[in-house]
Amino acid sequence: MGLIQKFREGLHKTHARLAHEIKRIVTASPKLTARSLEELEASLIAADLGPAMTERILAAVKKSYETQGRAGWDVFAVARAEVEKSLGAARLQPGPPPEGLNIILLVGVNGTGKTTTAAKLAHWAQGRGHTAALAACDTFRAAAVEQLKLWGERVKTPVICGAPGADPAAVAHDAVAAAQARRADYLFIDTAGRQHTRHNLMQELQKVHRTLRKKLPGAPHETLLVLDASTGMNALAQAREFNKAVPLTGLVITKLDGTSKGGMVVAIQQELGLPVKFIGLGEKLEDLQPFDASQFAQALFEE
Ligand code: GDP
Repeated sequence: MGLIQKFREGLHKTHARLAHEIKRIVTASPKLTARSLEELEASLIAADLGPAMTERILAAVKKSYETQGRAGWDVFAVARAEVEKSLGAARLQPGPPPEGLNIILLVGVNGTGKTTTAAKLAHWAQGRGHTAALAACDTFRAAAVEQLKLWGERVKTPVICGAPGADPAAVAHDAVAAAQARRADYLFIDTAGRQHTRHNLMQELQKVHRTLRKKLPGAPHETLLVLDASTGMNALAQAREFNKAVPLTGLVITKLDGTSKGGMVVAIQQELGLPVKFIGLGEKLEDLQPFDASQFAQALFEE
C-alpha cells in the first residue's frame, strides 16, 4: 500500500467529518459570507486544528476569495496548502542514523502506545535494512517487560531487560553495552508510563537520560514523547511536563485512526515547536509511519 493510502486510511475519521462539513458549507453558500466563515471556523476547531492554524486557514480562504472570486472559494486546496506550509517549516523527517549505535528513548504516560511504538520502530528500522535492539526499562510493571518480550519475538529483535524492580538506569546502561556488542544500528528504549505529575518518576527518567549520555556521547540521539491523539490538547500539558524533565527532540502521535480530531497534530506541533517524527495510524506493525507534512495535509483535506 502506498504512503498516501496509509495516511488516508489512518486519518479517515478526521477527514470524513471535515470533508463533510466543508462540502456542506461551500454548497450551502456559493458566496463567502460571514456566516460561512463562522461555520468553517467551527469545523476546523472541532477537528482540533487549534486557534492559530484555524485563523491562518480562514485568512487564506478570505484572501483567495477576494482575489479570485468563486474560483478562490476552494477551501480544500487552500487549507491543504496552509497546513503543509505550516508543518513543512519544521524539520520533520527522522535523519539518517549516525555511524554506530543510534539510541532512541521513548517517554510518555501509560497507555499512549510506547511499548507498541518501540516494537513498530524496530520493524521500521529493519525495513530500511538496519538492525535493532529493544530495552525494557519499565521495570515496575512485570507485564510491561513481558509485553515487550512478546513484541521482540514477533519482530525478531533482542530485548534487553533487567530483574523486576531493577534500576531502569542500570538496565539502560546494560542495554547500550549489549546493543553495541551486537553492533546494532538502533536501540529503542521503552520507559515506565510515569504520570507526568509524579516527581520521583521524572527524576528516574532524568537518571536514565543522564546514564545514556555518559555511556555514549551524543546519546540519546532522539528523545521522543509518545502522545495519544485521542487525548487532544491534554497532550500539551503532558508534553510541557516531560520537556521540563528531559529535553525532547520530537513527538510520536499514536491512535490517529481512532479519532476525528487528527488536526491536533498541527496544533500541538505549533504550540510546542517540536517536530512530529512518526504517527500511529493503526495497531499493525506497519501502521507506524514517518511523518510527512504533504501526505498528511492531503489526507486531511482531500475533496
Ligand atoms: P504504553 O502503556 O504506553 O506502553 O502503551 P501500549 O504500547 O501498551 O499501547 C496501548 C494500546 O494502544 C495497545 O492496545 C496498542 O495496540 C494501542 N495502540 C498503540 N498505537 C496505536 C495506534 O496508532 N492505533 C491504534 N488503533 N491503537 C494503537
